[in-house]
Amino acid sequence: MTTQEGGCLCGATRYRVRGQPTNTMICHCRTCRRATGSPVVAWLTFAKADFEVRTGTLAEFRSSPPVRRGFCGTCGTPLTYSHRESPDSIDVTTCSLDEPQAFPPTHHSWLSDDVGWVRFGDGLPEFQESRPS
Ligand SMILES: [Zn+2]
Ligand SMILES: [Zn+2]
Repeated sequence: MTTQEGGCLCGATRYRVRGQPTNTMICHCRTCRRATGSPVVAWLTFAKADFEVRTGTLAEFRSSPPVRRGFCGTCGTPLTYSHRESPDSIDVTTCSLDEPQAFPPTHHSWLSDDVGWVRFGDGLPEFQESRPS
């Protein structure tokens, strides 16, 4: 099984993921925007069993009652997203991977919150909220 490594800007927090993500998308939601100071955030979803922190410790912030966002406690790089209703999976920020080109996004989500001045032109499907499952 393939593995990919990733981590934060300062290098204190490093992680490893195994296998293929079950989802790969770009989120336009208001909360991701605030959590990162960026107009959109690309996310990958992995089985929790396939995610491992190798060095450092994830600091966590509860951005809403069911959601914990993980980041490097030293430099603040956003790294993970965990939802109480999906305890067996974890999202990682695509661009914290050492090779973010490994898992290109398949769609855009939460266009209903879009900031309005980023235009991708990538032809990927867009959804007003989460992609219907
Ligand atoms: Zn760091
Ligand atoms: Zn979001």
